[in-house]
Amino acid sequence: MRFINRSQYFSPGGPSEGGFVAYFSMEIAVAPEMPTYSGGLGVLAGDTLRAAADMGLPLAAVTLADRKGYFQQHLDASGTQTEEPQPWSPEQMLAAEDPVVTVTIEGRPVAIRAWRYEIEGVAGHRIPVYLLDTDLEQNDPRDRALTDHLYGGDADYRLRQEALLGIGGARMLRALGYEPTVYHMNEGHAALLTVPVLEQELRGAGLQTATEKNVEAVRRKCVFTTHTPVPAGHDRFSSEQAYRILGPERAGMLERFGCFHDGLLNMTYVALRFSRFVNGVAMQHGKVSRQMFPEYRIDAITNGVHAGTWTAPWVQAVFDRHLPRWRQDNVTLRYAIDIPENEIVEAHAASKRELLKAVKERSGVEMREDVFTLGFARRAATYKRADLLFADPERLVRCAEQMGGMQVLYAGKAHPADEPGKAKIRRVIELSHELRNSPLQIVYLENYDWKLGALLTGGVDLWLNTPRRPYEASGTSGMKAALNGVPSLSILDGWWIEGWIEGVTGWAIDDHEDETGEANSLYEHLEQTILPLFYRDPGQWRRIMRSTIALNGSFFNTQRMLEQYVINAYFPERRVEKPAEAAEADLENTLAR
Ligand SMILES: *Cc1c(COP(=O)(O)O)cnc(C)c1O
Repeated sequence: MRFINRSQYFSPGGPSEGGFVAYFSMEIAVAPEMPTYSGGLGVLAGDTLRAAADMGLPLAAVTLADRKGYFQQHLDASGTQTEEPQPWSPEQMLAAEDPVVTVTIEGRPVAIRAWRYEIEGVAGHRIPVYLLDTDLEQNDPRDRALTDHLYGGDADYRLRQEALLGIGGARMLRALGYEPTVYHMNEGHAALLTVPVLEQELRGAGLQTATEKNVEAVRRKCVFTTHTPVPAGHDRFSSEQAYRILGPERAGMLERFGCFHDGLLNMTYVALRFSRFVNGVAMQHGKVSRQMFPEYRIDAITNGVHAGTWTAPWVQAVFDRHLPRWRQDNVTLRYAIDIPENEIVEAHAASKRELLKAVKERSGVEMREDVFTLGFARRAATYKRADLLFADPERLVRCAEQMGGMQVLYAGKAHPADEPGKAKIRRVIELSHELRNSPLQIVYLENYDWKLGALLTGGVDLWLNTPRRPYEASGTSGMKAALNGVPSLSILDGWWIEGWIEGVTGWAIDDHEDETGEANSLYEHLEQTILPLFYRDPGQWRRIMRSTIALNGSFFNTQRMLEQYVINAYFPERRVEKPAEAAEADLENTLAR
């Protein structure tokens, strides 16, 4: 790894003109060999940074080192999941930074150091990622383990980690010489960064002296992206925990400024209260968030994926041939509409071969290249309903039999404490055994991660997504599939409301109040439309593959997403536009819709 002088991060020019963004996320999928993410939130954070590197944005990111990772998943023959730590060594892969900063947590001083990784963009710009680490000799043994497990431990552990990320992270950036003008909280886990930003505003005066004017000054610097469409999903801590772990001065300030709700410290309210720009992660999620928090102004910026990361090598080669600037300018993927269809089909066939080879290696099951293959992979959270496809297994088998066969690939980890999620995995694996000798082949692949995600989204023929509405804030794996010319069959939730054009980019499962209705619609689409097209009308199937890339690949990428953040959230004052009052009125009208 080659490192450059930090001053390069402050290079003038570009859309930021001297502004600097500090991006905070509890999880970041930094590199495939670093187990510092659990799912979509971390992959989005990593993809955001990869796009920032491509665009040359002045931005630095902060997360925790997660020395023991998230977890390695093992599934036994009956489908029972067990977990093992994924220890890794920051020492061997990252550059050590000198500064050590201290945060008082639960009355004890906790020393924090940072490791640096640099993400390099297409034109060589580098985005530094700082991974905070408390495994230092001077720390109490209890505190040395605080940066070990992503989403591990109990609620106390979580709050201590959030104090480290937010308070420790902001202090670390300043110790490293940064003076961010914008702080971006990727989900409420990072909300406590507002405390040191407020302290800085107070210039040494105690937090108890903070006024509404000071809060306003913090708000001018902070941006918050919420990712959770249901109240229960928002991070909350008891008042006792807040006062004990954060200390009375910080907890008292947060309580005084309205961050406690129903007697609980609510991280979403902390972030909402201290941010000037708040957004949900898809149009629909913006609406849902406005209903949940009617007293706040909440915009929407739809998520994306990093095109260069999630496009399979064979498809990349096709883009390189026909759209040479696509990596710098993802919008040019719109012109994929002019790529000869057979080139897309051949590239996809190579991706599918690679995927089926991996399936054989991992599971021993030999799948066929010419058989329709459906993919479903994501965290095994219950709302994602991994088993909706199997609401009526006999009907699915009949369909596979009549049409020419069907192969289904599954993957996904359940959080160690999520028993219902684990039960969903068991159910799919039991079925895969029962149906072993039927025309419907099912394989559940162990240990879903970045590399497996790329293989699956690139190599299957159809991406299936069956969340319970409105729980899917955005969802991103269908976007990865789209870049590879793989259409989706999905519930109309999250990004799919925007990405769906029936028969052009994929198909929508009809809205029903009950699961049976939704499952029926899913089956009807497979029986009457999708399988007949795949097996009997390859010409039309190719056109769908191509329009999926052109229409959805060109929009649902992190480059477009980050451009929206730059214009609306990070540097709105730099826009050349109407007078402020007119712009304000526009926004009010948008939000009122
Ligand atoms: C893309 C990805 C996710 C997120 O998928 P969703 O569709 O947003 O649920 C989760 N885990 C891995 C490993 C991924 O690559």
